[in-house]
Amino acid sequence: MPYKEPAPIKDKDNPLESMMSRFDEAARKLGLDNETYTVLKNPVKQVVVSLPITMDNGKIKVFEGYRVIHSTILGPSKGGIRYDMGVNINEVKALAAWMTWKCAVVDIPYGGAKGGITCNPREMSKGEIERLTRAYTLAMSDIFGPDKDIPAPDMGTGPQEMAWLMDEYSKTKGMTVNAVVTGKPLVLGGSLGRPEATGRGVTVIALAAMEKLKMLPSKTSAAVQGFGNVGANTAQFLSERGITIKSISDLSGAYWNDKGIDIKDAIAYRDANRGSLEGYTEAEKMGDANGIITCAVDLLVPAATEDVIHSHNAPHIQAKLIVEGANGPTNASADDILSSRHITVVPDILANAGGVTVSYFEWVQNRLGLRWPLDRVNRRSDKIMVDAFEKVYATAKQYKVTLRTAAYIVAIDKVASCYKFRGGF
Ligand code: GLU
Repeated sequence: MPYKEPAPIKDKDNPLESMMSRFDEAARKLGLDNETYTVLKNPVKQVVVSLPITMDNGKIKVFEGYRVIHSTILGPSKGGIRYDMGVNINEVKALAAWMTWKCAVVDIPYGGAKGGITCNPREMSKGEIERLTRAYTLAMSDIFGPDKDIPAPDMGTGPQEMAWLMDEYSKTKGMTVNAVVTGKPLVLGGSLGRPEATGRGVTVIALAAMEKLKMLPSKTSAAVQGFGNVGANTAQFLSERGITIKSISDLSGAYWNDKGIDIKDAIAYRDANRGSLEGYTEAEKMGDANGIITCAVDLLVPAATEDVIHSHNAPHIQAKLIVEGANGPTNASADDILSSRHITVVPDILANAGGVTVSYFEWVQNRLGLRWPLDRVNRRSDKIMVDAFEKVYATAKQYKVTLRTAAYIVAIDKVASCYKFRGGF
């Protein structure tokens, strides 16, 4: 049986502090000058809006919406929109900065941004979500733009929300502007391969890291936390590559099968069960859903949310490789524990960059007015991911640092050198 965590003790969740402490460390190693440090540290724009929405019961409810643009040094800002009750300005600021570093690591010409609305989409009707999305888009219509700031899906949003956003934005311009947002449905200019792109990239990166660690797929077991777009696709791709997925989880709990879980079957179950694994019987339900982090597997993929790996559970992690599918799943307080235990961590800003990479391809296709075949999308995104991994790996060796610090060094170096050319006031 996998290790069970005694109690869900957590460090104070603060993704912004976690992001900043990694940024500081990499900036120090890189010898970044003070002025550039201060420029890169502060987001360029933070927008907070109140969105009064008529709910289905006829009452008006006011929601808070955010968009933070962290940087536009490399190009127009790019980043998803999150619908979740935990959304707040500090979280959005951290997520926006992560997008800057992510785009820089994979070398695509975008700055970083993130948006979100504090809401629980699971408790809202389709009509309520549509009105909220349209109100948010209208409130942000001066912020968004195909050459300014390009949103995309994130936790709690998907192609339908992106379609409403594209439609509402287009109305303000009096013409269809499909390049204003990525992650759209295929028929509206979405890209082939975009829905599964993040999970595919996580898998490409996991295999590249496994090769360095001499882990054979056929002899590797894995646990994937989160069974949404990123988690389920990653689990599917990993199992197609011969890795045994012993544990999966979602909000309903964590599930374990020592012989391996049939991921196609689990996805079919979830889809027939209103998106939840609740009641899934092909695997044993673990007493504590957090136990998935410390269960007995070789590869751990946290693909749910922030701060799930922290100083309390890091000493008990049994995996030798962690590949971060989520943004910010490891609290900075766990970094030293994991590195002293020789656990290799491939950081979020590298591991989950497959999504924004194919978003970039979607934007390019929209601007060219054509569609690429799936094999071109996959071939190009796989190459970008592998090249980025090799660059970060070599940087880690050069500076004698973890892959996380190395990824930040690669990213900060790139953004800082562009800033020096562009200059300030
Ligand atoms: N929300 C995704 C991320 O965090 C995708 C962003 C995008 O495609 O712009 O990377």
